Amino acid sequence: MRLIRATLLACLVGSVFMAVNVATGDDIAERAHKLHFSSIVLDTHDDTTQRFFSKAGFDMAQRHTDGHIDIPRMRDGGMNAIFFSIWIDGRTMGPPAVQKAIDQIDAVHQMVRKDPKDLAFCRTAAEVREAHKQGKIAVLMGVEGGHMIGNDIRVLRTFGDLGVRYMTLSHFYNDEWADSSTDKPAHNGLTDFGKDIVREMNRQGIMVDISHVSDKTFYDALETSKAPLIASHSSCRALCDHVRDMSDDMIKALAAKGGVIQINYEKSFIDQAYKDAYDKASGGVVATMNNITK
Ligand SMILES: [Zn+2]
Repeated sequence: MRLIRATLLACLVGSVFMAVNVATGDDIAERAHKLHFSSIVLDTHDDTTQRFFSKAGFDMAQRHTDGHIDIPRMRDGGMNAIFFSIWIDGRTMGPPAVQKAIDQIDAVHQMVRKDPKDLAFCRTAAEVREAHKQGKIAVLMGVEGGHMIGNDIRVLRTFGDLGVRYMTLSHFYNDEWADSSTDKPAHNGLTDFGKDIVREMNRQGIMVDISHVSDKTFYDALETSKAPLIASHSSCRALCDHVRDMSDDMIKALAAKGGVIQINYEKSFIDQAYKDAYDKASGGVVATMNNITK
């Protein structure tokens, strides 16, 4: 299982390197277009689950005029694989959190069942490649926040069995065993139980996602995990000084162990002037975070 995960990561790293290689020359748009449409393009974090889960009648097969994701526009945009995010507010914990996560996991499976001509549920890199060969969009799942296992390692195993392929260790708030970047430190990073969670994720082949976690949690996870880590939706602190972003040292440490960072293009994570203005208008970072689900 670790080999499969490594293959998926290698695929991601390849995409990043190729993008860097075409960043010169006059015909950049044409070359970028060719590269994009000849690659398996994978989005590692998408929140559309909230739409087809909570909005009665939202149909992925129809072209919509709002939001960003539906099947026709994924086809147009050459997006071949997508991780739908399983997300609930980090202040919901215990059994209600588990129940709500399972409701959304089921909604993803039902959505794929409704559209078997266009979509294929995938658990491995090999399955993603096979779906692509058949002209289908590969659907995967990531759980965005360790609070959704209800502080119970057996629930993590069950999520794995249901096809979850990454879990973000925390969301905006600390959970019972990992500190978040946007909450007051409570655990000094990962607790011993949190480290057991990371080891169990390694055993299950569930990727360890460090987007949202505190810097200390990141370094604890990096030290504990035998498999490379991913940042499913973070950006670069050197460009925009946001706690949700990664410092250069963190990015280098991530890469040294084979991990990858997937960039989040939420404007307040990539544009310092925008972030400063937003913070001023909204009263600070944490207030900002309460109002968005990025
Ligand atoms: Zn997020």
